[in-house]
Amino acid sequence: MKVLVCGGAGYIGSHLVREISKLPGYEVVVFDNLAKGHAAAVPAGVKLERGDIRNKDDLERVFASFKPEAVFHFAAWIEVGESCSDPLKYYENNVCGTVTLLQAVQRHGTKYFIFSSTAALFGTPDRIPIHEFDTTVPKNPYGDTKLAVEVMLKACDDAFGLKSVCLRYFNACGADASGEIGEDHEPESHIIPIVLQVPRGKREKVFIFGNDYNTPDGTCIRDYVHVTDLASAHIKSLEYLVKHNKSDKFNLGSGKGFSVKEIVEAARRVTGHPIPAEVKDRRPGDPDTLVAASQRAEEILGWKRQYTDIEAIVQTAWNFHQKHPNGLH
Ligand code: UDP
Repeated sequence: MKVLVCGGAGYIGSHLVREISKLPGYEVVVFDNLAKGHAAAVPAGVKLERGDIRNKDDLERVFASFKPEAVFHFAAWIEVGESCSDPLKYYENNVCGTVTLLQAVQRHGTKYFIFSSTAALFGTPDRIPIHEFDTTVPKNPYGDTKLAVEVMLKACDDAFGLKSVCLRYFNACGADASGEIGEDHEPESHIIPIVLQVPRGKREKVFIFGNDYNTPDGTCIRDYVHVTDLASAHIKSLEYLVKHNKSDKFNLGSGKGFSVKEIVEAARRVTGHPIPAEVKDRRPGDPDTLVAASQRAEEILGWKRQYTDIEAIVQTAWNFHQKHPNGLH
């Protein structure tokens, strides 16, 4: 099957590309503007088409020549804070860009679409763990743009039968076991790579944003899911679409949360570095706990996580950073 991976040079996309291109029966092309992604993250033997989802001509060129049967759509801006200060940048890329992409999908009769969605859909959740059909009230423009695409995908199914799976990632983290690819964002805002900047000599200490949350140690609890496990959920989703020809959505987490303090402690154990930490004010908009109910993806998609231990997850991120002290080039 021919699959096009939009944003396939980015963090999560490149891990999917790596996993799916190992399997028989798939021909993979990456479509990426390299604004945030890295050409070096695309494995040898996989074609990288440089282009932008906001550009109809770029898309037409790839769809007309490659004729993908399935699209994985990872291409988006992802910084929550920036989405608050510059919302139109987010609507332009994440929503308008996806409209242009879906128009190409419709023109060319692409059958299946797998969308990178987010736990940010749920804002401050009604209950923990969060189930797929719980209330979605995002608390920032980033989450709003992802919800807009989920709504749009439902309309595309109703109107022209596009079958899609929306995957709501909780906290994506870790790196491929080889250490060859991993998380390399500029700027970096996620907790695990930030904590690891201390033993890498890139920062002196970690700031913990708030220790007065309603959690056992007062710091926020998040559900950390390994990026290779996210990749396998995407492959399972495509298999599901092919088999059942039915759209669906899944929360992708581990069902178990770790506090910010626990993350810092895990990183201290993995790296052997004391990693000084200082408590600062809360970061605006952080809910105290976000943990996914993970049964649905397990039961319906047959998804099994390979990584359940937080230290093993942090270890893979640490391997990547040690191999790439100056990031991916
Ligand atoms: N966090 C922190 N210090 C940092 C970065 C993040 O204390 O330098 C906290 C953040 O407030 C949140 C958790 O770590 O409670 C996870 O944040 P991240 O940005 O990694 O992911 P999010 O849950 O916001 O998607």
